[in-house]
Amino acid sequence: MNNPISVNNRTYSWPKKTTIVICLDGSEPGKDGYIEKAIEMGFMPCMKSIIGKGTYEIGKCAMPSFTNVNNLSIVTGTTPDVHGICANFFYNQDEKKETLMNDDSFLRAPTIFEAFEKSGANLAVITAKDKLKKLLGKNLKKSICFSAEKADLANLKDCRIENVLKLVGKPVPEVYSADLSEFIFAAAVKILERGDKIDLMYLSTTDYIQHKCAPGSDIANAFYKMIDGYIEKLLSFGCKVAFTADHGMKAKSNADGTPNVIYLQDLLNKNFPKESCNVICTITDPYVIHHGALGSFVTIYIENKEKINEIKEYIQKIEGIDVALTKEEAVKKLNQPEDRIGDLVVTCKASFALGKGEKDHDLSQLKEPLRSHGGLDETSIPIFISDKLDESYKKKNKLHNYDIFDLALNYDR
Ligand code: ZN
Ligand code: ZN
Repeated sequence: MNNPISVNNRTYSWPKKTTIVICLDGSEPGKDGYIEKAIEMGFMPCMKSIIGKGTYEIGKCAMPSFTNVNNLSIVTGTTPDVHGICANFFYNQDEKKETLMNDDSFLRAPTIFEAFEKSGANLAVITAKDKLKKLLGKNLKKSICFSAEKADLANLKDCRIENVLKLVGKPVPEVYSADLSEFIFAAAVKILERGDKIDLMYLSTTDYIQHKCAPGSDIANAFYKMIDGYIEKLLSFGCKVAFTADHGMKAKSNADGTPNVIYLQDLLNKNFPKESCNVICTITDPYVIHHGALGSFVTIYIENKEKINEIKEYIQKIEGIDVALTKEEAVKKLNQPEDRIGDLVVTCKASFALGKGEKDHDLSQLKEPLRSHGGLDETSIPIFISDKLDESYKKKNKLHNYDIFDLALNYDR
């Protein structure tokens, strides 16, 4: 038995059996959540039979409730003030331009994977989109690590695996598809089937389906049915299976199906024309088709610092706004890295979305009523571990998605 691993001020016991942690992107939980609905409607028979034998809780994610932010929170066991990834984009003050935060140099904390690999553990990390692979795989030298999106390019040097398409028996999936997520599970099964001795596995899906479809809809149910089948398969190898989500998901459209957007840049230009406010929608990434770069969180850079509080007060009164915080407040209340957020951080309520200017968002590709995330109203996430845990985990005052490795490894009965 190997010694426990310490990383980022937390300690993790060595997995007693192959432990698979899954991030089900955008899996809004609760009475009307994706999993609950699918179970209720008979689409997740495996989960229905095991949920009571394992541990199921609803917890919270880190802010903003975005994908990369929370995947990195999960795999470091920390919040953005520690690991540094607080958005897909940030405004680079030195270069005076909006910069993508998908390079691993932006990550400031070691991952749990890196720490386990250094101690000799065998790991496999599989993501949907390639943008995450680099961040999750930082400093990994021996572990399998690849994305479904670029599965055809996976090679021994960079990914410690090759001929993935042949192994999985599927073509490279479309980026905007349920297949992208299914490929990950199929690959995980094949890796176990061929006999790899894996200690820890991390699978991270995409929220393409959740952006399109509400819980309980045919498409969502079919997606969770697919996942249920794979959970059953993974359990059949004798693995421990745990899952959480990076964030939730809320409908954000008007009765006529148009997105219910607060265009904050337009409002600020009109009311504070001289203050040079720059609204940054940090959900923006190279893949925006399914949400038009509209989420529930923005950060604002304001040239005239004397006006920050006045602008904050104005924003707070706008209908649909949830919170407007100064940088200092956001660092304290939302665990944000001070140097990567603007002078104000603004979130909107569940049924609203926040935009820059109306002209800045191309909504022509948005085929379904908008569903998105990013704010405090999308921070509820499911937490499941296929084993009953030692009850002492209940002493934690709040459960977060970034506790999932702790829960999956440290509370064996
Ligand atoms: Zn996500
Ligand atoms: Zn999303």
